[in-house]
Amino acid sequence: MANTKPITIVGGGLAGLTLGIGLRQRGVPVTVWEAGHYPRHRVCGEFISGHGQETLARLDLRELLERAGAVNAATAAFFSTTKSAPVHPLPSHAICLSRFTMDHTLAVELRRLGGVLREGQRRRDEDFGEGIVRATGRRMQTTENGVRWFGLKVHARNVALIADLEMHLSPRGYVGLCRVDGGAVNVCGLFRRRADEDPTPQNWREWLRGEAGSLLNRRLAAAEFEEASFCAVAGISLRPRSAAARSECCVGDAITMIPPVTGNGMSMAFESAGMAIEPLAAWSRGEVAWSETRQAIASQCDAAFARRLAWAKWLQRMLLAPSLQEVLVRFVARSEWFWRTAFERTR
Ligand SMILES: Cc1cc2nc3c(=O)[nH]c(=O)nc-3n(C[C@H](O)[C@H](O)[C@H](O)COP(=O)(O)OP(=O)(O)OC[C@H]3O[C@@H](n4cnc5c(N)ncnc54)[C@H](O)[C@@H]3O)c2cc1C
Repeated sequence: MANTKPITIVGGGLAGLTLGIGLRQRGVPVTVWEAGHYPRHRVCGEFISGHGQETLARLDLRELLERAGAVNAATAAFFSTTKSAPVHPLPSHAICLSRFTMDHTLAVELRRLGGVLREGQRRRDEDFGEGIVRATGRRMQTTENGVRWFGLKVHARNVALIADLEMHLSPRGYVGLCRVDGGAVNVCGLFRRRADEDPTPQNWREWLRGEAGSLLNRRLAAAEFEEASFCAVAGISLRPRSAAARSECCVGDAITMIPPVTGNGMSMAFESAGMAIEPLAAWSRGEVAWSETRQAIASQCDAAFARRLAWAKWLQRMLLAPSLQEVLVRFVARSEWFWRTAFERTR
């Protein structure tokens, strides 16, 4: 391996760690910079659905996550504030695992394989030139079309679900509920506020519990929140972007973010990392130029993601239109055809 050039990955979230692991499996020297520490709670629905599971299996990580406590998810149900749709089987199974456990498990695996993990170190250098991959997550955008998006998450006890994934829609956003490792239920919401309001509200419990009288509020009536697991993010951009438009080599949310309602963002992080491994290993061995490497990764990612991003944008718009929510839950979500089409086209 004396002739392999090292790769630096900036960002030790799911995309960065998965890429680092895949490169170490091929003997490439890797350093990952991560601004935060492991383990830590992250705002995420913690529901992994889509082709990313195949990437995990290929890299022998699926079994690792199962051993770490990942819970299988086979059913889903949608709710508006007052109406519920029947429980549907998921066209393909998902797995649910807390980010607290998942990121930590992958970080340990990267180190076990000989990767260098510079934990708690933010890379300030903005030069993402040869051999450097951006895996820094979503790009900050304070407002989008006059709206501020923000995410809230907490783990809860004492919640009985009727499906493995419950998605509760309301005019201000949506909240997903799913059981994760350790028996807790993850309560995670994406919300919007007008640009002239506070970016994140102080009364986060009320936002996550839903409006008084809503089905979500009833579901969480006896919930006990694990306060230490609470986290929030703001400045979310949901505008689809293409990898080819970037001058840097990017993976995961650093390329683009898919609306969380699809439960496909983590899958895209795993998939994009999986697609970057071989081109980067070839660059490391000196077989291809950096510009070709970057372009090969970008065009694979764009080919894989463009269609699902377009569908997801349309789906999110429909699900958040207050006038459509009742109709969707009462009629459309009962249709097996609609449910399967929306599911399959967004992953
Ligand atoms: C409300 C909400 C709900 C969601 N629900 C789901 C869901 O149910 N299912 C799903 O699949 N996806 C979901 N997602 C999306 C999912 O969380 C992301 O797609 C996924 O985390 C992307 O992984 P990533 O590695 O690209 O980015 P991240 O996981 O964000 O990792 C990026 C890392 O880079 C680090 N970093 C940034 N800058 C630097 C720097 N300069 N130096 C060093 N380190 C740096 C950060 O600390 C961070 O750890 C949700 C997102 C939100 C907001």
